[in-house]
Amino acid sequence: MTVPIAIIGTGIAGLSAAQALQAAGHSIHLFDKSRGSGGRMSSKRSDAGALDMGAQYFTARDRRFAAAVQQWQAEGHVAEWKPLLYNYHGGALSLSPDEQVRWVGAPRMSAITRAMLGEMPVTFSCRITEVFRGEQHWNLLDADGQSHGPFSHVVIAIPAPQATTLLADAPKLASVVAGVKMEPTWAVALAFDTPLDTPLEGCFVQDSAIDWLARNRSKPGRDSQMDTWILHATSAWSRQHVDMAKEDVIDHLHGAFAELMNCAMPAPAFTLAHRWLYARPAGGREVGALSDADLGLYVCGDWCLSGRVEGAWLSGQEAARRLLEHLK
Ligand SMILES: Cc1cc2nc3c(=O)[nH]c(=O)nc-3n(C[C@H](O)[C@H](O)[C@H](O)COP(=O)(O)OP(=O)(O)OC[C@H]3O[C@@H](n4cnc5c(N)ncnc54)[C@H](O)[C@@H]3O)c2cc1C
Repeated sequence: MTVPIAIIGTGIAGLSAAQALQAAGHSIHLFDKSRGSGGRMSSKRSDAGALDMGAQYFTARDRRFAAAVQQWQAEGHVAEWKPLLYNYHGGALSLSPDEQVRWVGAPRMSAITRAMLGEMPVTFSCRITEVFRGEQHWNLLDADGQSHGPFSHVVIAIPAPQATTLLADAPKLASVVAGVKMEPTWAVALAFDTPLDTPLEGCFVQDSAIDWLARNRSKPGRDSQMDTWILHATSAWSRQHVDMAKEDVIDHLHGAFAELMNCAMPAPAFTLAHRWLYARPAGGREVGALSDADLGLYVCGDWCLSGRVEGAWLSGQEAARRLLEHLK
């Protein structure tokens, strides 16, 4: 019997590792606490259509990642988004065009991880609470007390604060991971029956509780009947209001949005708030991935590199590379 490799997390880091390990001929099994894949790249289905509440777009600078994006584009899971971009600074909106190529999942952000997952074996709605080693192999325990295993290796591909609790059997790794802090982000979606009278499709915001806003419907393939907008609060505002009730967060960010948009602002027909407790790593790190090859434990995620989609994908590749290297 071949003993599979366990991968905890079906965000882009976990799926990137899974694809590389499967391509090298290994059997794998994925776990995620959510009902679907994507993590911070997932999209929320709603009465206003699918909404990208987390990652908004991504760039591809690394040659290997650019090749992966090209393949997703050829398969129709990714398209270029060319928003009419603005800057909000000192109380004024100004056009802010640039040369940056911006990619989004199509017809929604989650299309990418959905395609990566394909037919891979996965258990959803399964929050892993313990990773422990038996005599030869690894086993996982979930929040319902159910045990999963045996596994030859474990790849942990989740935000650092959540990974720390799974590293009791690897205290050296645990102490490094515990040093990584991550910042929260409140995200709010608003949808209007009548489109707002503005050409703006994306905006970097300063001097406000909001730091980014996007017209979700302007992304390729989105077919919402309503004019949908995504607002992201700054890390500082999100930290200060981390326990605020969702209705109050919506009220506050809607108010900030109305203040900075130079147009009539009707009451939204639909609203939604989502709190990302571990949205972005605080400070940069360039470790690629973390590993204890003798134990057979690997840790990856965006926080090992740039804190972005590209960094997460590269980190998953690096975890897989280290694991395969050790097996040679
Ligand atoms: C609001 C916001 C805006 C962003 N904007 C951008 C952007 O514009 N451009 C960009 O490049 N990046 C952006 N990012 C960052 C980008 O989304 C992340 O870097 C990337 O998606 C991280 O991928 P990951 O696989 O490392 O982690 P995640 O996507 O967090 O995946 C981790 C997965 O593990 C699961 N999990 C966690 N704990 C457990 C457990 N104990 N047991 C089982 N499963 C578990 C989670 O459910 C999740 O599915 C943004 C992020 C946020 C939150």
